[in-house]
Amino acid sequence: MKCISEFNIMNATTPRIYMSYSLMQQIQHIVDIAPKEAQWFHLVEKDKDGDFVVSEMFIPEQTCSTVEVDTDSNMMVNFWNELKEKHGIQEASNKFSKMFVWCHSHHNMGVNPSSQDVSQFNQMIQTNTSQQNKTPVIMLIFNKKDQYYCRAWDPETNFIYEGLDIEYLTSNCSWIDEQAKVKFKEPAKLAPVSTFNFTKGPGLTARPVSRNTYATSYSYQNDYSSLWGDPLPVATNYKDERSESELVLDEIFSGSYYSNLKVINEAEINAFIQGIDELLPDQQRLILFQMLRKDKDIFSVRKKEIPEKLFTTQLKRFFKTKQKPTFGVCLEMLNYMNEIYEAQKLENEKLVNELVEEFHFEQKIASVTK
Ligand SMILES: [Zn+2]
Repeated sequence: MKCISEFNIMNATTPRIYMSYSLMQQIQHIVDIAPKEAQWFHLVEKDKDGDFVVSEMFIPEQTCSTVEVDTDSNMMVNFWNELKEKHGIQEASNKFSKMFVWCHSHHNMGVNPSSQDVSQFNQMIQTNTSQQNKTPVIMLIFNKKDQYYCRAWDPETNFIYEGLDIEYLTSNCSWIDEQAKVKFKEPAKLAPVSTFNFTKGPGLTARPVSRNTYATSYSYQNDYSSLWGDPLPVATNYKDERSESELVLDEIFSGSYYSNLKVINEAEINAFIQGIDELLPDQQRLILFQMLRKDKDIFSVRKKEIPEKLFTTQLKRFFKTKQKPTFGVCLEMLNYMNEIYEAQKLENEKLVNELVEEFHFEQKIASVTK
């Protein structure tokens, strides 16, 4: 018997990778400035349409050389500690559990994955499977010719995709320059076997000793498994280190706000609009309103009443321009508003204008790429 149709999976859709336009600019930047080859990570979550939403960028301290990128275990421990200091244990653990977009550059060479790349990717899948971590795993390889290679694993279907398109949601590269100055290091002359121990601190459970040797050549097979392989330490007595904006979001969504990446539905948008209308002091409402209206006189015009209806209409309009509004968009908006508020209090007109322009710039990109 002969089958007359081509092979086809009839009920499957091809997922897309979404990231902000500014994040792609940051990736291009790191590929451009990396002395040799470099690796870094992003967070990923699957949204309700089954697409992969990629965000943030994390650069571990690393040794850069022509043919390999080595990150020894000590460096990964330092990276974890750095995250912990910056975000607190809770948030750092949360980020680590989603940090499954593994990226590296192949400098001027082709972007096809080496066998080491593939085995690292498979190792990450195994880690997630064994932990029942429902986070997708994505490997992206870039070069200086603007090419990329993509492989992605979907934990729900167990499909492994190749060649997915990256689409842009909505820029700032200066922080990468700062990190690169500190973290891109010359290769070490000696390549010893290194071992490490997590020190047991407050709120930290002891983690097993991992052993890692420097790989000899063409290796990206760094021992991240020790970081992904164990349950992350659970926070016990952590200080609440959330920003003012995060606290406002928490108040509005009473705990259901847990991730900046989550795409919000209409009911949540309405709750957000209602919530900030009630929670924000007049001056902040005014700033937000002017930001959204693209008022140029945001600095000079301070005291003016805005009717509630106008305020909510403006906010709804803002969300309508967004392809997939996330909690991150709400947070970004509040962060801008707070920064402008602080700059106004300091009477720093230049800074206010810069912040407003930056906000408008990001919105412009968002609407162009929509
Ligand atoms: Zn590679």
